[in-house]
Amino acid sequence: MVIIMKKNATEKQVDHVIGWIESVGYRAHPSQGVERTIIGIVGDDRGKAQLKATEHLPGVEKVMAILKPYKLASRESRDGDTIIRVGDLEIGGPEFIVMAGPCSIESEAQLLESAYIARKGGAQVLRGGAYKPRTSPYSFQGMEEEGLKILKKAREKTGLPVVTEVMNTTDVDTVEQYADILQIGARNVQNFALLKKVGQARKPVLLKRGMMCTIEELLMAAEYILAAGNDNVILCERGIRTFETATRNTLDISAVPVLKELTHLPVIVDPSHAAGHWQYVKPLARTAIVAGADGLIVEVHPEPAKAISDGAQSLKPEKFYELMEEMRILSEVMKNRIEVRQ
Ligand code: PEP
Ligand code: MN
Repeated sequence: MVIIMKKNATEKQVDHVIGWIESVGYRAHPSQGVERTIIGIVGDDRGKAQLKATEHLPGVEKVMAILKPYKLASRESRDGDTIIRVGDLEIGGPEFIVMAGPCSIESEAQLLESAYIARKGGAQVLRGGAYKPRTSPYSFQGMEEEGLKILKKAREKTGLPVVTEVMNTTDVDTVEQYADILQIGARNVQNFALLKKVGQARKPVLLKRGMMCTIEELLMAAEYILAAGNDNVILCERGIRTFETATRNTLDISAVPVLKELTHLPVIVDPSHAAGHWQYVKPLARTAIVAGADGLIVEVHPEPAKAISDGAQSLKPEKFYELMEEMRILSEVMKNRIEVRQ
């Protein structure tokens, strides 16, 4: 259910409605839009009739049921797009943002060099994994907390906020101390315990679509995080598994306009894990920006041939600078597009 407050509703009326909702055992998720406040309500379906009574409270314009299975993630539950603030950076706003860096943190020298490359190219966020989900137990599993400390150093030296993956509920508190954005990887998109745990964190979450996950399942995964109290979720299309083997995954570019229609959350694209080969990364990144994505997350390595993980899909510095130049040109084109809204 969602309660739409009148345009002139006072703060006191909003608080009264929230108090009423909570007094009957539901959780209220208010969001202040440009025009009005919308209050999303989540909880057991059985008390719906009781909630309908809020229609008579002062300041309430209407009470509506949200028919989609995801409630807080749906467009109906908010007035406008969610813009996620990380320091001065806005994700989901007018500016196209790029998160760049290596797949894994391998050493201090490697990460610092990557961070300077990311900043020189114009990326706004540094990426780097300290806890790595690897198909083989014999592959490098990441530098763990030592890696997080290196990430922190790179953050201090470059001023770039950092995004890094957390795979385990027991690591969330530690990762949160170092990261500006918590990444939930494709393999954990339906790890419900982990989703609930990052839902209690105070840092934004970058939620990657699983290779086996429908768009609706991705939105349901986001709903877990939102329902647990964290409003700041960034969705990421990173390719899904199909019969095609020429690329590592198949980038489902249609997910971008579909998600932008269904949800107010920012949507970014990871062309690196979709492609699996560096030479396809730039063409896929172009499609992401023109399809309406809010940003990219891309793998860059000072020497991809020596990368411990995902070297084949990592861009060399020069190729990354080229990509960033093109993104700047295309973002100007996108600002001038003709938006037809029906
Ligand atoms: C990664 O970002 O390095 C990663 C493991 O991504 P994904 O979860 O999309 O495979
Ligand atoms: Mn990777």
